Amino acid sequence: MKKTSEIIAQVRREGREALLETEAKTICREYGIPVTTFKLAKNEKEAATFAEQIGFPVVLKIVSPEITHKSDAGGVMVNLKNATEAQDAYCKIVENAKKYKAAARINGVLVQEMAPQSTEVIVGAIKDPQFGQTLMFGLGGIFVELLKDVTFRIAPITQQDAEEMITEVKAYPLLKGYRNTPPTDINAIVKVLVNTSKLIMDYPEIKELDLNPVMAYEKGAKTVDARIILE
Ligand code: ADP
Ligand code: MG
Repeated sequence: MKKTSEIIAQVRREGREALLETEAKTICREYGIPVTTFKLAKNEKEAATFAEQIGFPVVLKIVSPEITHKSDAGGVMVNLKNATEAQDAYCKIVENAKKYKAAARINGVLVQEMAPQSTEVIVGAIKDPQFGQTLMFGLGGIFVELLKDVTFRIAPITQQDAEEMITEVKAYPLLKGYRNTPPTDINAIVKVLVNTSKLIMDYPEIKELDLNPVMAYEKGAKTVDARIILE
């Protein structure tokens, strides 16, 4: 698709492999994968203005080609409730990033809507040397990291494949609703999986993709962080 091709060409021209969150989310959006709304602020005044436009609370995040794990760099601040907090967070994040990596280029700070907490799922893709583009699905947090409760399919996948992926993880009952956890919109997650499949099939140069986390709601889903790496 047009925007995706332009972004990938630009990343290549700059000799980069890792896309910025802004780039990855713009691609997601073009493929119908819902993401948080965002705007790139270049100074603290803009951070405050954009935060007001987006609506509180907001999240601010560092955008730097040299910083891929933003939290490690003190580059993520959540639940900012007013313009002053957003402005202060901008300065703090830039300061943290410089401390973390003095040579890091800083493109700005991303101001985004704060997605309400919910059940978190992870959609991933890797290019397997033998099987090619492969999709991964699991539930966020301990389910992936500790219990390795994940499932894989070779792309492309159908809607039915996506449904199977979701139902076959052990944590699936959580998505169906359990005690205090309301049922989530499985169909919205199916769409994210199928659209991610389309994306990685259209662009075989994508070596890795991580939508982590995707908030799964009773109605809809929203990608909070997106990472794409080219080969
Ligand atoms: P990292 O590069 O460290 O993975 P993330 O963008 O994933 O940075 O942010 C770290 C954490 O902050 C996320 O896992 C999520 O819990 C929270 N977070 C980030 N962005 C948002 C957002 N827009 N809404 C709600 N929570 C967010
Ligand atoms: Mg993340």
